[in-house]
Amino acid sequence: METEIIEINPLENARPFYQKAAELLASGGLTAIPTETVYGLGADAFQPDAVAAVFAVKERPSFDPLILHLSNARQLDEITEVPEALRETVDALAGEFWPGPMTLVLPKKGVVPDIATSGLPTVAVRVSAHPVMRGVCKALGHPVAAPSANRFGHISPTSAEAVKKELGGRIPLILDAGACSEGLESTILFPLIDDRGKPAVRILRHGPVTRERLRGVVRVLKNPRLPASGGEEDDERPAAPGQLTSHYAPSKPLILVDPKEPFEARPGESYGLISYKGDSPLARQDCWAAVISLSPGSGRLAEAAVRLFAVMRRMDETPEVDVIVAESLPETGLGVPMMDRLRRAAAQRV
Ligand code: AMP
Ligand code: MG
Repeated sequence: METEIIEINPLENARPFYQKAAELLASGGLTAIPTETVYGLGADAFQPDAVAAVFAVKERPSFDPLILHLSNARQLDEITEVPEALRETVDALAGEFWPGPMTLVLPKKGVVPDIATSGLPTVAVRVSAHPVMRGVCKALGHPVAAPSANRFGHISPTSAEAVKKELGGRIPLILDAGACSEGLESTILFPLIDDRGKPAVRILRHGPVTRERLRGVVRVLKNPRLPASGGEEDDERPAAPGQLTSHYAPSKPLILVDPKEPFEARPGESYGLISYKGDSPLARQDCWAAVISLSPGSGRLAEAAVRLFAVMRRMDETPEVDVIVAESLPETGLGVPMMDRLRRAAAQRV
């Protein structure tokens, strides 16, 4: 299959392209669509066959449910049944973080096909801040089911070029609106009533909306099962379906190291370093075939987050590098979701 790539500038007259993508989706086809987090692989969420095609194209296991995108928060009640006791919390979160990189897991209505939620009674929903994703959702008039536009377990794509490498030849269309502005998948929240009868959320996946920002709006329960909280996973089951220990992985082995500790290179092996600022004692060692810094010099976590997946991809594609070594990052704010992705990238594939 030929993959067409259409460059879109949402500030110019992009509506005919939203229309074209929506027609493709309405006919049961798939298209890659940019969001502020990563590029998504979109299908009409109300067509079970189209949703099935998303799983097939991504080689995604059927137990890993998809996120449904809405063009606007007012559509939430069309697909979810928000429990009365959680209404205020859901409205507060939506008001604060939508449109934006936050996903809510809520009880689903019957219109949502079971295949989209892997048979779960809940559905993951988001209103993206990206005008192209919202424009396509609006033109379609239905929610768009859109997981990341990569093959399962691979690094998420943050550019149209990366989508082409992952899914070129498998899908008919990629809408290209440049690089993603957040660069990490959305924060996934599960709103619930806790054992004291109070509304709260559990973080199912760390992302651009950090724990610190959430705490300003809602009570955040500790989730001891998430490796990003600093420790090892102490439960065999992932915190959310699909959040497998090995994920977001380059094709080369990746080792996560403390930048203050010396690295012992094994003879005959060629290493590439992903450094945070590029000025650590580790970065000054002379054993690297390549060094790429996530936020050269200044060390800003937001800059590092935007670049993380693209840099992992570049290292993966650098022919002189056999093994990728990544410096561990400070685990506050955006450092938490980044360390989550790095730990999963470092986990041995089964
Ligand atoms: P992706 O769209 O590839 O970033 O992945 C979406 C992720 O959202 C899945 O891997 C799940 O971990 C999570 N998710 C989707 N639906 C649900 C749900 N109903 N309950 C819990 N987690 C969900
Ligand atoms: Mg994904």
